[in-house]
Amino acid sequence: MKKYQGVFIKNEREIANLREANRITANILDDIGDAVRPGIATMELENIARRKCEEYHVRPAFLGYAGFPFAICCSVNEVVVHGFPSETLILKEGDIVSVDFGVEYGGMVGDSARTFPVGQISEEADSLLAVTEASLYVGINEAQQGHDVHSIGIAVQTFVEQRGFGVVRRFVGHGVGANMHEKPEVPNFDPGTRGVILQHGMCIAIEPMVTEGTYDVSILPDKWTTVTRDGKLAAHFEHSIAVTPHGPMILSESDRGLVRYKAQYPQNRIQI
Ligand code: MG
Ligand code: MG
Repeated sequence: MKKYQGVFIKNEREIANLREANRITANILDDIGDAVRPGIATMELENIARRKCEEYHVRPAFLGYAGFPFAICCSVNEVVVHGFPSETLILKEGDIVSVDFGVEYGGMVGDSARTFPVGQISEEADSLLAVTEASLYVGINEAQQGHDVHSIGIAVQTFVEQRGFGVVRRFVGHGVGANMHEKPEVPNFDPGTRGVILQHGMCIAIEPMVTEGTYDVSILPDKWTTVTRDGKLAAHFEHSIAVTPHGPMILSESDRGLVRYKAQYPQNRIQI
């Protein structure tokens, strides 16, 4: 595979496979989102992910990755990322639950995340979800050919902080392809340095993690579960995208999402 500044450049076939891996990932995230409601154990969401992977004949990409023991990362309330699904963690009205998920297809790995409300949530939580999801699209709009990859984080951070929320520094987005984590790093904040200049064929995951309070996080003794240090809520939205001459192409849109997105943003220059 061709490289530019250490970053793999994908050809059309590779981008098509990456799109399919991400389309399946996103369709399964739709199914998981449909199941989120008060009273269910988060392990139910894991079970849906595994069952759907069998139906699609794909492998869950997170399972066993660096020793991660589940198909989904399931992060409730103050858990920012990398939470474990559990039989005993029962979702209740007012919770928020972030699900990060990916599958392997055609030698490529999908990667996408969303935060779902559980029943009726507080106004503050609702605003956290809306700002986090909107900040993802603010970041995606910067993923243009010729832009420094760090312009994404600068835009995300500005957008989020103007609305009174914090952006996590500890984890960043990344290149996507045959491996879940490739070069370049895609910070959600201004790292104060120059990054790679985005080129046609670069594929990256943009994934703002946004907090209600401080952006400082702690990792629990299980070595995965990452929580906000002040115990306040955190949200996480992620899309995998390809940089094209016509603008960013969202790879991780579901079949259902495609219809909704086109209806909502008919003028949007983001390709899907
Ligand atoms: Mg992810
Ligand atoms: Mg990712």
